[in-house]
Amino acid sequence: MCGACCRWEGEVKISEEEITRLAKFLKISEEDFIQSYTQLRYDRKGLGVKMLEDGTCIFLGERNVCRVHSVKPSQCKGYPFQWRTRDSALHCQAVRTLLDQGVLKREYPADFEY
Ligand code: SF4
Repeated sequence: MCGACCRWEGEVKISEEEITRLAKFLKISEEDFIQSYTQLRYDRKGLGVKMLEDGTCIFLGERNVCRVHSVKPSQCKGYPFQWRTRDSALHCQAVRTLLDQGVLKREYPADFEY
């Protein structure tokens, strides 16, 4: 709940199904959602959630609350158990705690996404 992972430099990939789900949640058309809340991904192969100039996700609200929490993209839901970056522990207290507790392994499995 610190919001650090919602402020890192990077991108949140968003699928067509997620666009449909998020637009419905926000009660706007998919076209309006794409215009207002997405940006072209770095690899130009799809869309990601729009980031503000300082790298903060456009959906991060007051007190670090995700304004689309119940329908947030799978990339957000999967962090840090399905993926994390090699330096997540530098930025994320939750990752440090989970590593210290042994809930997360320090080694990355061969198929782990990061
Ligand atoms: S969609 Fe929500 S959980 Fe995902 S980066 Fe944005 S604010 Fe954070």
